[in-house]
Amino acid sequence: MIFYHPDCDFRFSDYGIEIPVVDDRASRVFQNLVSLDSSLTYFDPALIPEITKEDLLLVHNKDFVDRIYGSYRELEREIMSCFELQDADGNYHRYNPKNAKKDFNHALSIVLKQTGMTYYSTKSALTTGFSYFLGGGMHHAMSFGGRGFGLINDIVITLRKLQKENLIKTAWVIDVDAHKGDGTAELTARDPSIVTLSIHMKEGWPLDSGTVRDPWFIPCDLEVGVDVGEEDKYLGLLSAALNELDQKYPRPDVAIVVNGADPYEHDELQSTDKLKLTREQMLARDILVYEFLQKLKIPQSYVMAGGYGKRSWEIYTQFLKFVWESSSKRSEVSSR
Ligand SMILES: [Zn+2]
Repeated sequence: MIFYHPDCDFRFSDYGIEIPVVDDRASRVFQNLVSLDSSLTYFDPALIPEITKEDLLLVHNKDFVDRIYGSYRELEREIMSCFELQDADGNYHRYNPKNAKKDFNHALSIVLKQTGMTYYSTKSALTTGFSYFLGGGMHHAMSFGGRGFGLINDIVITLRKLQKENLIKTAWVIDVDAHKGDGTAELTARDPSIVTLSIHMKEGWPLDSGTVRDPWFIPCDLEVGVDVGEEDKYLGLLSAALNELDQKYPRPDVAIVVNGADPYEHDELQSTDKLKLTREQMLARDILVYEFLQKLKIPQSYVMAGGYGKRSWEIYTQFLKFVWESSSKRSEVSSR
C-alpha cells in the first residue's frame, strides 16, 4: 500500500525557506507509480487521523509541546531553530520571509498531517505487511525540541500511539538515511520496546560541534558509521547489522524503515556529501532491508526522510517499482 496526498507535502518554499528539497519529489514518485498501476489513487485527506497534543506528549516533553501550541512567536522560534534559519549572529540563514506565501501555523498543520499519515500507514502495514508513506521520517526531532528539519518525531509518536492502543508491543526502527537517527535514539534510549538501528555517515552528523555529552550523541541500539570513501563496504556493513538485529533482539510487531534517499551520490544537500552511493547501491540497500523483513514476516512501514535535489525521486521510484513488480509476480503465482 502506498499512501500519498499532495496536501501533506511540506513545501519549504511556501514559508520562504531556501533548502534544496525539490518540493515535488513525492508527487513525482507517485506519478511514476501511477504509470505502472493505474488503480493507484490519492489518499482521501478526510481520513488523515488527527494528531493531538496528547499524542505529542507521548514522546516530547511538556515545555516543548506547550511552546508549539503557545503563541505564534514561540512556534516561530521553534521552527526557526529546527530548520536552522538563523546563524550564530542572529542573521537569517537560507530564509527569506518576504517570499513566504504561508505562515508557520500552516507549517505546523502540515507536520501534524505528515505524522497522521505515518501513523495511518504504519497501522495499515500491520494487516497488509507493507506500506509506504510518501512523506514523514522526521528522525532528528528530540524530546526537547525539533532539529535537522524535523519539528516532531513522527516515527516514535506513531509507535507510542500504536502501543497505547494495544495494536503493537514492540518495534524496530531501521534508519538508512545518510544522517544518524539521533532524535529517535534519544527518545527511545530507555525504552527496550523500541529497538533502533541506524547506518549513516560516520563524520558530519551530528554536527561536529558539541561534546559527546550532547543528547545527539546518544547511540542507537545498533549503530554503524560509514567512513568517507567506504562506500564499497556499505552493503556488507548493513547486512551484518541486520543479522545482528535478528540475533540479538526478539522479533517485533512492526518495523519502520526510515528510507532516506540522501546517501545517493547525486543528492544536493551539502551535509550529505560524505556518503555517496550509486543508484545501484541504493537499490541493493533497499532490497536488502525489504527482503530481510519479509523473510522474518515482520510488517514493514516506510517513510521518506531526507532526499534533496533534483534526482532523489529516482531512488524512491526504483525501489517501489521493485516492490510492485515482485508483489505482482507473487500474486500471479498464487492465482494459478
Ligand atoms: Zn538525512
